[in-house]
Amino acid sequence: MHRAETIILKLTAPSANKRAWLSQTSQAFRDGVGMVLGVAESEQTSSRAKLHNACYTANREETGLPSDYARMVVNAGVALARSYWGLRKKKRRASFPKVGKSQGIGLGVHAYAVLKRGERFFLRASTGKRGQYKWLPLSVPVHLASKLEFVHGDAKLFQRGQDWFAMLPLRLPHTPAVRDGEPTVLGVDLGVVKLMTVETPDGCKIWNGLPVRHRREHFASLRRRYQRHRRTDRIKAQSGKERRWMHDLNHKLASELVDMARFYPNAVIVFEQLDGIRDRVRGGKKFNRMMSSWTFRDLTDKVKYKAEAAGVDVVFVDPRKTSQTCCRCGHATRSNRTKQALFRCVNCGWSGNADRNAATNIAAAGLRTLQQGPTDTARSEESEQASSSLTTLDGVKVCETQVLHTDSNLVSPA
Ligand SMILES: [Zn+2]
Repeated sequence: MHRAETIILKLTAPSANKRAWLSQTSQAFRDGVGMVLGVAESEQTSSRAKLHNACYTANREETGLPSDYARMVVNAGVALARSYWGLRKKKRRASFPKVGKSQGIGLGVHAYAVLKRGERFFLRASTGKRGQYKWLPLSVPVHLASKLEFVHGDAKLFQRGQDWFAMLPLRLPHTPAVRDGEPTVLGVDLGVVKLMTVETPDGCKIWNGLPVRHRREHFASLRRRYQRHRRTDRIKAQSGKERRWMHDLNHKLASELVDMARFYPNAVIVFEQLDGIRDRVRGGKKFNRMMSSWTFRDLTDKVKYKAEAAGVDVVFVDPRKTSQTCCRCGHATRSNRTKQALFRCVNCGWSGNADRNAATNIAAAGLRTLQQGPTDTARSEESEQASSSLTTLDGVKVCETQVLHTDSNLVSPA
């Protein structure tokens, strides 16, 4: 079993000579792709075989590209043409693609190798002449160095601004998610005031939600202004912008969480089941708008995806009472939460940060789920309606529920 991953590494200050080779090759590559697209448009085809026959030899003669590169030129042209016909099939308006300046240099499997010389890594690109190579120095972050031995498949060199980058595909051996030994559970409480509160064996880590809240309020006030002036075009453009921003933010949060978790042996990230989060949070309209379950669902999806790649497990637990239960004595009542931020147990007198209390309870519930399988209460009415799948985790059955979300808080103006 293997899993695929792609990494992007910057080339560290290639020499003038290497830069010249890079620009020249990428220009030849663009010319080649342009030719393929020309044929694709005039012949109305995206067939690889047809385009290869029509362009491969002509490409090599006109652009002077070596065979490995010429093959990638055809591939790049085919990919662009196919994306265009894909859009047309969906009745979307699109003009025939042109080769952009961002089009990089495709590197076939045989056109390059990643090699270590001393302490430094190089991408050795073939120039088409036997025994002649360009050694492009790679800037490799420490945590990626061990992955470079798994580089496998077609790669790409591309330029952004003044810098050159290498996009390298990896084929990593699959690590089983749960191994022998005790799991380390990390309970995660999601919220608005605190985006994420994570209880770990080494203490608690909190992601403050205030900057995000300000940003969303700013988006909301812009939206109201556009509405007053009936600028639907602006509203549309802005909701796209907001969505991209949210995706980006969730990517960062998910990466940070998974990076933290992977340090622990047999790490298991524990979330509450999403429907519960929306129900649990009370508050005004303003509060709810920012509590769009879409964003939480998006975040947990991203965490699941990244966690799988990192060999970290993700478990969902019943959200009921996690915020009202005392993590010290287990007493559960609403009067434990008279204030939003503070938890004060009416039974044993323990008091502390409310989010942290919830995160601790979530971690404990996650551990119970791992040890005993889901309890009856973990299957709420909503989740029974939704499609639920049982996955076996180290002999323990864990209920993972896919809940369909119809919430459109994020796009619908308040
Ligand atoms: Zn208590």
